[in-house]
Amino acid sequence: MKTYRKELWFEVATRRAFINITPDVQVCIDESGIREGLVLINAMHITASVFINDDESGLHRDYDVWLEKLAPHEPVSQYRHNRGEDNADAHMKRQIMGRESVIAITGGKLDFGTWEQIFYGEFDGRRKKRVLVKIIGE
Ligand code: ZN
Repeated sequence: MKTYRKELWFEVATRRAFINITPDVQVCIDESGIREGLVLINAMHITASVFINDDESGLHRDYDVWLEKLAPHEPVSQYRHNRGEDNADAHMKRQIMGRESVIAITGGKLDFGTWEQIFYGEFDGRRKKRVLVKIIGE
């Protein structure tokens, strides 16, 4: 069995963003030389997510509005976590959108369902953050 590990780094200029990282993950698979296996992609921060869904800007706007209703950023004083920081909402948004995705690799490609793409979800940006890509297989 072969293994592969890489960190992808992001520095988003805004507090929140969704970034399609599918091409970056495919590059990792190509570099690994693994044709049959599994790829795990996880955010290495507790205020960011990795998730799979459609690359459609309306949907991403809908996610942002929905998450902001569930866990509004303002007023920051509404959260106990925000003693000395202001990112309690980002922890909650990450919890809803998830920590990681696992995808089958078949014939050296991501074995997706229809319209599936991989996204990095940032909820407390404006600093450097990383995503782990771990691949196992042969
Ligand atoms: Zn925090």
